[in-house]
Amino acid sequence: MRNKLYISTDSTESFRFIIVDSTDLVQSVRDIHNTSATASAALGRLSTMAAIMSHELKNENHNITLNIQGNGQGGMLISTVNARGEVKSYVTHPEIDLPPKSNKKLDVGNFVGKVGLLTVIKDFKLKEPYIGQTSLVSGEIAEDFSNYFYQSDQRPTVVALGVLVDTDLSIKSAGGLFIQALPGYDESLIDKLEADINNFPPISSLFVTHENAFDVLNKYFEDFNLKLLGEKEVEYLCDCSRDRVEKSLISLGKDTLNELIEEDGKAELVCDFCHKKYNFTKGELVNLRDNL
Ligand SMILES: [Zn+2]
Repeated sequence: MRNKLYISTDSTESFRFIIVDSTDLVQSVRDIHNTSATASAALGRLSTMAAIMSHELKNENHNITLNIQGNGQGGMLISTVNARGEVKSYVTHPEIDLPPKSNKKLDVGNFVGKVGLLTVIKDFKLKEPYIGQTSLVSGEIAEDFSNYFYQSDQRPTVVALGVLVDTDLSIKSAGGLFIQALPGYDESLIDKLEADINNFPPISSLFVTHENAFDVLNKYFEDFNLKLLGEKEVEYLCDCSRDRVEKSLISLGKDTLNELIEEDGKAELVCDFCHKKYNFTKGELVNLRDNL
């Protein structure tokens, strides 16, 4: 099954093991944003990370937003995920492409930039969202998140994110691996874990053969006797609606609405995440203003 996230733990419950095949999800990123190869890799990795983090969400209306603001040419990258594993993403410059690095890998680090901030916003519908922020390490995204988790949770965390872009720019394979020590973990297992991680193949090409992601995880971490705690489908799905767009129009305030009414006589709003267009006639704008 493509695009499935598997959450598991070992027999001593020392570590959380999560794996996801995000090939179709990243293909949607490519289709919607018409991303260059480098942009597909960058936004694909972030979208895959978002999919992984949906394991933290239990309640239907909670969500997590990942934001990377680096000094690279790609601009800002955003991915939001909800508890259903629905991801939506955005990048300022999807068209920017960079020459590959000397090891032939796509140059995500320079696309994102090596200086900047990684922000995680967890909206659990409390008074204030939880906001965590760390500096970028390399702009390669997986390393930046490993550092974020280490800083925020103070526990060893391994993050691997990979996107393999085909010559026709379609997504050949994409996926993510996340391993985190749980509180009170058995430290004597760390060496064995590191050895297994070193044997783990590059995540970017892991799902070319469409193998079941949990089978792959079991194969490489066999000695940990993994038990499955949960699984969920992940997909690219934008939750924008006319209702929400109306609210954002209203939030512009009376003066801006008046300007739109007088000067343009209409409004067209385009969703950043799915490019759906929302059109408002003069009469509809007047109605929104009069209800303010
Ligand atoms: Zn949308």
